[in-house]
Amino acid sequence: MIIQKTGKIGDDFYVIGSAAIPVYLLDGPVPVLFDAGMTAGAFLYEAGIKGILGEREPDFLFLSHSHFDHVGSVSHFKKVWPDLKIGGSVRCSEILLKPKAVQLMRDLNFEGTNNIKKMSLAPINEKRFESFGLDILVQPDQTIELTLGLSVVALNTPGHTWDFMSYWIPEKKILIASEAVATYENKGYLQPEFLVDFDAYIDSLNRLKNLGATILCAGHHSVFTDEDAVAHIRRSVKAANDYLSMTEAFLAREKGDIDQAVLRVKAEEWDNRPWPKQPESAYLLNTWQRVNTIWNRMNRH
Ligand SMILES: [Zn+2]
Repeated sequence: MIIQKTGKIGDDFYVIGSAAIPVYLLDGPVPVLFDAGMTAGAFLYEAGIKGILGEREPDFLFLSHSHFDHVGSVSHFKKVWPDLKIGGSVRCSEILLKPKAVQLMRDLNFEGTNNIKKMSLAPINEKRFESFGLDILVQPDQTIELTLGLSVVALNTPGHTWDFMSYWIPEKKILIASEAVATYENKGYLQPEFLVDFDAYIDSLNRLKNLGATILCAGHHSVFTDEDAVAHIRRSVKAANDYLSMTEAFLAREKGDIDQAVLRVKAEEWDNRPWPKQPESAYLLNTWQRVNTIWNRMNRH
């Protein structure tokens, strides 16, 4: 099944806030959050989490990567639940210390507020993004024991970014892969999400595919269950390879002119995609990075 709404997914597992920009919650004696969405959605996430936990508090929040739409509400959560421990990769913590990166997260969250308003998600948090420190530097393959017989395993799965961690809950076969897998767009188009390294992205996908997840959480819009979980990872590999061939052909035709190749890719996959979709500026930013990554790869090979 492909689930594109908030609410309960499986026993004790929930999509909170907005399916497009979700926070995931694993309930139990030690409740855990995964990712922290956008700053504008902070109240929405808080209300959704309290709706499940009541007076209880989440113990951990694990971050997949340091993009603005995955870390936006962390500082708000810290105010609401001061004992909440924030975990992420070492690279993620380094990025959060860079004033330029923090400014970008702030700018993009500010810009994103308008999109959240368009999606008529209320109430809106109008405060600006604030940086924060990590309490746990999660190491690759580290297992965090929650309770007897329930754990979270951090898997370093670079390709979208270098700081990327996916989280695997083996006892429940839940995989929070976020943008280590393709985004399932309108009309079923799969948007490959490699930004920094194509081959690392494919390696990460192959690693995740072998886990045998039955609940797969993507970064935006969708959760895949049962046979759709592994199938989506397999389809993500194919989508990435198709994207690679298409873009290599465009780059060859444009003699390495990245901007022209980006326009060709955009005409192919974005122009006719129905709304709601990623805003043009964000789409172009990511596509430029994808095309540039492929161009560098072509020159290496
Ligand atoms: Zn991202």
